[in-house]
Amino acid sequence: MPKAFFIDTSRCTACRGCQLACKEWHELPTNKTKQRGTHQNPPDLNPGNYKLVRFNEHMDDIGVVRWNFFPDQCRHCVVPPCKEVADMILEGAILRDDTTGAVLFTDKTKQLSADDAQVVRESCPYDIPRRNEETGLMSKCTMCFERVTSGMLPACVKVCPTGTMNFGEREAMLELANKRLAEVKKTFPNAMLADPDFTSAIFLLTDAPENYHTYAVAAAPEPMDRKRFLAGLGKPLR
Ligand code: SF4
Ligand code: SF4
Ligand code: SF4
Repeated sequence: MPKAFFIDTSRCTACRGCQLACKEWHELPTNKTKQRGTHQNPPDLNPGNYKLVRFNEHMDDIGVVRWNFFPDQCRHCVVPPCKEVADMILEGAILRDDTTGAVLFTDKTKQLSADDAQVVRESCPYDIPRRNEETGLMSKCTMCFERVTSGMLPACVKVCPTGTMNFGEREAMLELANKRLAEVKKTFPNAMLADPDFTSAIFLLTDAPENYHTYAVAAAPEPMDRKRFLAGLGKPLR
């Protein structure tokens, strides 16, 4: 049965336990960072961060400062555009496990040229994959595939102390997401679920998506045909 995350941002305290647990479980290298006047650290996803808690501070319509937290990660799209594109370049570079719904980047991604890797990144509606410029490997959240297929929770879900990160059968997560949405809407009338029909990482937002992150939501990912693929070639990286 396909799995899904339900990520309830209304509960997130930005403790970054999920971000750290992800690095620890996957033995990802540390990042050199510097004080940039924000708690968002590192500044963006990178080959050493499959998970990043994004911070957004803004003033709402009635002059109240809102601080929104967004634990960003791959959405494990139901029809993943990254795989559709990669399949046209190098079959097997990106796989989708039908049982869990996990979208997996393999070692074969090292064989993609820098330009092809850029096209794959460009195809992602959530700007998720990153390339290690030294090894050529493209990487992102794995859904903690080895943990999940051994009956364990993803590391980020296991450590989350607030109930923000949830994981389970897709139907159960959708049910929980809709139940929480109805509750949260009593306090935040504009609350919404981000692209629940197309993704396996369903975010509940209490505020407009742009008040979280540029890629908090996307237009519904459409299957990538050759015409769209070719149109994307040569486009600069966002
Ligand atoms: Fe938010 Fe949970 Fe991650 Fe802490 S561990 S930042 S509460 S999602
Ligand atoms: Fe691929 Fe991006 Fe969807 Fe993840 S979020 S499955 S990287 S298209
Ligand atoms: Fe990282 Fe695993 Fe969570 Fe993905 S599911 S963000 S790989 S800890």
